[in-house]
Amino acid sequence: MYDFLVVLQGVCVLLSFAVVVMIVREKPSRPQQYLLLAGISSFINGIGYFFELTATTEETAILAIKFEYLGLASIVTFMILFTTKCCNCELPKPVRYGLILFAIFFVSLVMVLDKHPYFYKSYYFDAQAEIPHIVSVKTPAYFLFIFYCCILMVLQIVISAGYYMKHKNKSSFGILLVNVSYIMPVCAVSLGLTGCFNGFDPVPACQQLAAFWMVHVIIVYRIFDSEQMAKDTILSSITEGFFVIDVNKVLLFLNETAERMFPELCRKEQRQDAIEDLIAHNKETLTVGKQKIEVHVSPFYDHRVLKGYTVWLFDKTDEYIYTKRLIELKEQAEQANRAKSVFLANMSHEIRTPMNAIIGMSEIMLRDDLPENVRESTMNIQRAGQSLLHIINDILDFSKIETGKMELSPMRYKVVVLLHNIVSLMGSRFKEKGLEFIVDIAPDIPSELYGDEQRIQQIMINLLNNALKFTDKGFVKLKMWSGESRDGKLLLHASVEDSGSGIKEENLSGIFNSYERVDLVKNRTVEGTGLGLSICKSMVEAMEGSIQVESHYQKGSIFSFQIVQRIENPEPIGEWNKVNIKKENKKIRTPFTAPDLKVLIVDDTKINLKVACGLLKTLQIKADTAESGRECLEKVAQKEYDMIFMDHMMPEMDGIETTRALRDMDGDYFKQVPVIALTANAVNGAKTMFLREGFQDFVSKPIDMGQLCNCIKKYAKNKIILSEND
Ligand code: ADP
Repeated sequence: MYDFLVVLQGVCVLLSFAVVVMIVREKPSRPQQYLLLAGISSFINGIGYFFELTATTEETAILAIKFEYLGLASIVTFMILFTTKCCNCELPKPVRYGLILFAIFFVSLVMVLDKHPYFYKSYYFDAQAEIPHIVSVKTPAYFLFIFYCCILMVLQIVISAGYYMKHKNKSSFGILLVNVSYIMPVCAVSLGLTGCFNGFDPVPACQQLAAFWMVHVIIVYRIFDSEQMAKDTILSSITEGFFVIDVNKVLLFLNETAERMFPELCRKEQRQDAIEDLIAHNKETLTVGKQKIEVHVSPFYDHRVLKGYTVWLFDKTDEYIYTKRLIELKEQAEQANRAKSVFLANMSHEIRTPMNAIIGMSEIMLRDDLPENVRESTMNIQRAGQSLLHIINDILDFSKIETGKMELSPMRYKVVVLLHNIVSLMGSRFKEKGLEFIVDIAPDIPSELYGDEQRIQQIMINLLNNALKFTDKGFVKLKMWSGESRDGKLLLHASVEDSGSGIKEENLSGIFNSYERVDLVKNRTVEGTGLGLSICKSMVEAMEGSIQVESHYQKGSIFSFQIVQRIENPEPIGEWNKVNIKKENKKIRTPFTAPDLKVLIVDDTKINLKVACGLLKTLQIKADTAESGRECLEKVAQKEYDMIFMDHMMPEMDGIETTRALRDMDGDYFKQVPVIALTANAVNGAKTMFLREGFQDFVSKPIDMGQLCNCIKKYAKNKIILSEND
């Protein structure tokens, strides 16, 4: 029997050693580390009892007992820490330290039990017994210790049972099984106290069996290594490559993705070069086969001491392909936009040519003596033509804005001239409709500003036109005042108020959207495209400003905007309508004659030549014509003209090529003669393009008489005879 027990205990010791090895091989996570410590304690406990069993003297038996108790106290302490950690009911720090101190106290007591009577009151070694052992008289301290061990064991069983009841999953079941194994040593302790084993202590053997059971559970249920496993899984499953090197650039760890990206990291002979290479390309993107890999190296420290580097490898291939595709798409879109611009230029040309004929011819006719009914009809034709032209201009403007081609042409301008132009263009129309036109201009506005006068005029005319369209009685008020000025720049405010139909509140928010026309039932007789306000908004925004509307249905509306303008002359305009701008006004409106002016008109379309000639004839200018670039060059070589009006799009040699050829001809005259583009191409900053190509000026078709006169006056020098009333 004795021999059997010795062998059994030996086997148990070997088993508990195996438990320790197995837990170590599992790469213990934090809770497992408590389990590992419990396993080691169990091993110590087992060895202690093995030596107690085989002891022949009292000294060795007492020494063995000390080992046993050291192991036992540690097992119960580490096991309760393990259980509470696993079951997420970690004990408060003071309780944990209290348990550890309690265990240390008892272990200390046992370590010197041969020196005092407080653990064993007395003892002796019974070498004659069937199982030689220490026979002792126990003190209350001994029972307290056993009680402490039993309480902790029961407690951990209760905690893990509660945890299992709450979660009822595989993991919590495993924890419960581990703790249930502790029923064995608890029972063994109780039975040992009854003395029924005749000197044999079953507790250590039960401890070993419990430990063995635990390992079985760990392997079968694989439950306690989730933390470490989670970390490993994260590192190996992330799509980024990741490896760690120490300060000497020795590889410590690499994940599967890094291995896949750079297989040379796994080949011993190539590894060092690969590491050096990757570190040298920190924050760069490397091309590896078809892959684009971005490298990020960051150092890591332990208490401010550099310990090594982590290297992240980001696969940017998809992003690269996506960006490339985006660039391609952008290029395609730009290409489409360019095609759209070309189409617009062509369309503009095509529409403007017949429009030129309609408006130009009616202009010529109106300058003749006509019977009243014919004059009336001609005026109607001209008005319809102007309104069609307005729509075409809106569409072109809008397309320019849409394709991002709207350009401002800022220049120095006089505020009074701008105001006079607007008022003279609109005043009579308000009068015709029987509306009061109030112009309220603050006298402190600087007299000269720098900005795109044409666009500002366009915005104001647009708003005034709308006011005119939607007001049947009452007034329209144009207001302008200066706001904040800073760094030589001024915030110029303007508003157009009317007592017209107003806009319903629900329609106000979309009013500046393209194609938005509201209250169509009521306004169905009012013409428009729904683009005007959207264009105004874009223009105002291009001038670093904003536009707003305030409206009361059936009472009226106020459209107001602010734009940033540079101050050129801060002197205030004062009473704007008292400023004598007759001269400026005349520029556009006042006709003159220039019978001695030699003008050549180049255009491949006969009707255009006819219109231009007809209009010039009203100024008593007898113009020569050329129907092609070649003919133009021949005519210029024979006769010195004062100015040449040149069409742009012509077959064979277009206007630009003809002008270039003209400028290349020998003689100063050919370099200086004013060439004015007379073209229907009104898109894409055409004016700037023509000036760049050697033209002096630009008059758009359909020809506006005012613009034409203006231009002739500029280049005709002393050949102008002003009309008497000028
Ligand atoms: P359009 O006048 O060519 O239709 P707009 O963009 O200029 O296009 O105006 C859009 C819509 O806003 C108009 O159709 C009209 O319903 C409304 N609107 C604009 N100005 C006024 C105004 N002064 N009074 C009433 N409604 C207006």
